[in-house]
Amino acid sequence: MAQQIDFSGQSVLVVGGTSGINLGIAEAFAENGARVAVVGRSRERLESALSRLSAAGGEAIGRCADVRDLSAVEQTVGGISDHFGGIDVLVSGAAGNFPASALDMSPAGFSAVVDIDLLGTYHVLRTAYAYLTKPGASVINISAPQAYIPMPLQLHVCAAKAGVDMVTRVLAMEWGESGVRVNSIVPGPIADTEGMKRLAPTTEARQMITDSVPLKRLGRAGDVANLALFLASPMASYITGAVMPVDGGWSLGGLSAMAAEMPRHFKPGRRD
Ligand code: NAP
Repeated sequence: MAQQIDFSGQSVLVVGGTSGINLGIAEAFAENGARVAVVGRSRERLESALSRLSAAGGEAIGRCADVRDLSAVEQTVGGISDHFGGIDVLVSGAAGNFPASALDMSPAGFSAVVDIDLLGTYHVLRTAYAYLTKPGASVINISAPQAYIPMPLQLHVCAAKAGVDMVTRVLAMEWGESGVRVNSIVPGPIADTEGMKRLAPTTEARQMITDSVPLKRLGRAGDVANLALFLASPMASYITGAVMPVDGGWSLGGLSAMAAEMPRHFKPGRRD
């Protein structure tokens, strides 16, 4: 269970919250008393996420939408806000990924990732602003180490997540006056996630990553959720525009060494 901070009476929207790290964040808010909404494309994943969230104790609702579709985002976010009477915490973390070199990746594959991660983040934040509690709302974008560590086979994610962190910084400046804080969380390698399955598909690759993390373990979804709870809480009321790793120190150097090794673990030509 994540840390205890009281979020009773607060409404939390987690976009991309139907699995993995983001579902862990949604669960942590539910366990701490918040009303939680999650959004993703797959109905099956959404339903399974909602059963986990109900078990966590909070009121939970969900909607299916693709963040690339602005009108779907407008309808979904507006509907969720109407249901809750506003949004206190917004977590935006929908993302796609597949390992491929710049030349093996098709332009459509590049666009798909940039459109989900970066354009999707813009759609979600732009739409949600009208419904955010002002002053006081906390917006958290889920970034990735690829935003600032160049990684072979990850051109699309590197470009998209670097953009996401700039969305964080620019909107922190534009929205600060209305009392809305905007921060990025940068998870490190988190065990048992789709992201890790895709980027570290073998035991050897996972061991190499573990060895390259100064704290010598993979992260847990709860490690990321704890930072999200903190950033959304009054304890972080003077923090905005920050890009915060929760990665066991991986970005200090081990990640760069591992990035250079990455192509060894994939066959050339793989596009996923
Ligand atoms: P995940 O389980 O695949 O979660 C991705 C979520 O985004 C799912 O709910 C997915 O549901 C949703 N999604 C994907 N495309 C979407 C779209 N077009 N519209 C709406 N929702 C969409 O991934 P994860 O590995 O836990 O990663 C979660 C976040 O952490 C991502 O932002 C990722 O970049 C970041 N991150 C992960 C790691 C890691 O170790 N895993 C490390 C660093 C950063 P549907 O597919 O049903 O739409």
